[in-house]
This record gives sequence, structure tokens and C-alpha cells, in this order.
Amino acid sequence: EDHIFHQEESPSSPHVVIFPLPIQGPINCMLKLAHLILYSSQSTISVTFLTTDFIRRRLDLNSTFRSVTTTNYGPHIRFETVPDLVGPDEDPRGSRHVAELTRFMEDQAKAEGSRLREVLAYGSTEAELKKPVTCIIADGLYGCMADVAQELRLPLVYMETISPCGLWTYICLPNMLQAGELPFQGKEDLDAAITSVPGMETYLRRCDLPSFCRAYDPNNPVIKLILNEAKNFPRAQGHIFNTFDKLEGDYFPHIQASCPNLYNIGPLHLNLKCRMIQHKATNSYSNSLWLEDRSCLEWLDAQPPKSVLFVSIGSIAVMTWDQLMEFWYGLVNSKTRFLWVRRPCLIIGLSDEEVESRALGVAEEVLVGTKERGCIVSWAPQEEVLAHEAIGGFLTHSGWNSTLESIVEGVPMICWPCLADQQANSRLVSKVWKNGLDMKDSCNRVVVEEMIKELMETKRDELLVRANEMAKLAAEAVAKGGSSYNDLNRLLNDIKLMKF
Ligand code: UDP
Repeated sequence: EDHIFHQEESPSSPHVVIFPLPIQGPINCMLKLAHLILYSSQSTISVTFLTTDFIRRRLDLNSTFRSVTTTNYGPHIRFETVPDLVGPDEDPRGSRHVAELTRFMEDQAKAEGSRLREVLAYGSTEAELKKPVTCIIADGLYGCMADVAQELRLPLVYMETISPCGLWTYICLPNMLQAGELPFQGKEDLDAAITSVPGMETYLRRCDLPSFCRAYDPNNPVIKLILNEAKNFPRAQGHIFNTFDKLEGDYFPHIQASCPNLYNIGPLHLNLKCRMIQHKATNSYSNSLWLEDRSCLEWLDAQPPKSVLFVSIGSIAVMTWDQLMEFWYGLVNSKTRFLWVRRPCLIIGLSDEEVESRALGVAEEVLVGTKERGCIVSWAPQEEVLAHEAIGGFLTHSGWNSTLESIVEGVPMICWPCLADQQANSRLVSKVWKNGLDMKDSCNRVVVEEMIKELMETKRDELLVRANEMAKLAAEAVAKGGSSYNDLNRLLNDIKLMKF
């Protein structure tokens, strides 16, 4: 057991409430943040994790395999939950519409007297458990929290769980509208340059903007949320980014100009790993909302070094059956070994049972190639997979967590971005960091096959050089005295001193 958790808490000691969006990416990031704060402050800062009943059930489901549940999860994270849109017996597994969920949570945060609001102020609704909150750390997408924190007279720090480059394109939406670069003139020319996002003028194109820009509608609920996020961004006392200084490009000083107090403490998972080693703590919890199929690690053990392509499009993105077929043929035809995550509720318009029965009927050569060289799971322990020596590449949707996890392990990527910040992330991978290839807007078996061959064979050496350089920079950032290490210490000190 970790001795560091047994320090006395005084009633006036700092107490943060962490309030993520109830979806996989933010939950993953902000649970890591919660653990980082506990370990690094040696529990002198209390942490309440505010989420929904559904998320807590999902975390418990997974963690019971390791004999932990959210009740005894890293001893001093207190979980407080509120109901969400998911009924107690429902098991939707797929994603809830992000805008719908966010609005639902925001409405509760704004409602005086609501359970959620009480937890934001006191960490609990039960008299004997109440302890005044001294700082709120909320997901940056909760634009309304700037008002709520002000009403509660509490300092607010936003945690940005998407990439800084993606966030910057969000914040610049009003700029682009004003400059006439949004909405687009004409549907076809997705390669046209975008010049009104400062710092990205030399490489940003229409197709690198968030996907909702392609059918720009100011009444689209996602766009409303994002415009609200952009408006409220400068109102927080600080912003936590899951990035490290040396990863960030020319746009970063512009972000800093709109909010000077930034904490770049990423890659979070690596920072946490280092702090846990430092405190001799063991990691026995899981942040996954789906059951991890750990058998794929054994399968990887039997493959040669750097021979396997890992394929996953994260927790939210979906594809059509036809796109799945293009990927499948491309993978098999490339003759590369592959580990493929085919998550529940992945295919638009088909149930998991329908997908399974269709998959049994695909061409014999595809089934044979898959059996010989492939492994398919419904959810993988991704961080461990990417760290495995058999992995040589990652075909990813360029979600920010996945991108950072790949960078940390020095794994080159093929990017097939789907939504949100992913379009921008994949552009940075291919043009700025040069540790991968961008396959955006293409889903064709011949292209998939060619890209895999480039990644795993013809361009492998040059991509690996860059990938390894970046992994080294990430490791330096979280090591003692590194930029992310120092920013985390500064964050902890500031949390202790922060006043409204
Ligand atoms: N993930 C996982 N197992 C899988 C697929 C994904 O553990 O089979 C994790 C992955 O490690 C990452 C997160 O789910 O931390 C996905 O976050 P990301 O930001 O990449 O994408 P999102 O799901 O938010 O689109």
C-alpha cells in the first residue's frame, strides 16, 4: 500500500473537483490528472472526481478484474456521480452524441440546487462528507463552467483534453468566419490554404479543419458548443494541456497570448508512470470503459519485433461496412501482420451481431489472410500494445490520446482522421513532426495497402528516426527537471494558493 496516502487532511486544505466530459478520451485523461495530483502532492490536495453513474459502472466493470473498483481506486480519489442520459439497465457501449451529453451535464451544472452543482461546491451532497472545494478543474468543452465557477466564487482551471493544435483551430473559428475563409466557397477544393489561423499559415488547409467545418451550420449543436468554448476560453485562471513544450509549434505562443497561464504537463500517461515509479506505487486500475481483451498481448509475444501494424479508431469514431471492407482488404493484401480493434457499435447502421455474421461471409482469401497474419479484438489495452516490441506501426484515427501514446512509444503512424481535432493532428504528424503519413479523406483498399507498405517498409527507416527523436523528447519532458515535470509542480503549487 502506498504510504503517501496516509497524511492528515485539514478541513481547510486544498480540494479540487475534477469534472470531465463523460466519454472515454476525457475520462482517461482526467483520471490520470487526478492520480498525478494525488501522487505528486503526496495527498496534500484532496481530489473529488465528478462523473456519471454510467461511467462509474463501466470503470468498475473493467477494474474488478484487477480486484479494484472505483470505491478503493487509488485510495483517496473520491468518486461522486450524477445520473446521465443512460438508464441503469442500458448498455449502449457506443458513443453518446457528445453535444447532447455535454449540454445535459451543463444544464445540471447551471441549475441552482442541483446535485451536480452541490458537488462542484462541496465535493459531496452528504453533510458529513462535505469539504469546501477550493478549485474546479473542468473539461474545456464545458464553456458554461466559466459562469458557474464565477457564481460559486471558485477558481477555475480548464483541462484541454484535445490537442492544442486542434483547440487552436476551434478558437480561431470566429477569425476564419470574419476573414471569409469559413464557410467554404465551393465544395470541391478541400486543399485550399487557410491563412487566418495564426502560426499555421504554411500548412493548414480546409481539409485539416474540424470535420464540422465542411458543412458549416451555425445552428449545429457541436458548432454552438465550440463557439461557446472559444468565447469562454480566456476566462479561466489557467489551462492544463496534455502536451509538452518541445512538441508545440509556431501556433503555441498565440494560444498563450489569449491565456497566459498554461500548464503543459503531458504526455500525461508518461508523466504519471514516472511519478508512480518515483513513489513506488503500483498501477492496478483501468481507465477503460470497455473490457480489455488482454489475450492480444500473448499473440503479440509470438510475433517478430516491429512486424505488427496496430489498427484502431478509438472510442467514438464510426465507419460504414464498405469502409471496413476497404480496410480489411488493404490490410490483408499488404501481407503485413496486424492487430485490429473492432470495437462494439463501430459500424454505422449495423448491430454487432449483423457485423459478425457479415464478417463470416467475406471472401475466403480475406479470412485466410486474417487467420494467418491477423488478430482481431473488441478492445485492447492500447498503451501496453503500443509499448510492445512487436508493434511497428499504428493505423489510427489520430485521436489526441492515441497520438501521444504512439509518440511516447516511438511508433510511426498512418492517420485516418474522422472528427474534431483529428484532422489537424494528422496534418501535424505528416507535415510538422514527420513521424507518420496522412491518409485523410481516402478509404480505398489500394491506398490502404500502399500506405501500409510505405509505413512498414519503404519509408520505415526515416519515419522511425523521427518517431524515436520525438519519444526521446517526450521522455525528457517528464523526467525530473523537464518542462512537463516542472509545469506539474507549478500547477500543484498554484492549486494550493489559488483564490477566486
Ligand atoms: N483505447 C484503448 N483500447 C482500445 C482503443 C483505444 O485503451 O482498443 C484507448 C486509447 O489508449 C486512448 C483512448 O482509448 O487512450 C482513445 O482516446 P483518443 O483520444 O485517442 O480517441 P477518442 O476515443 O477520444 O476518439
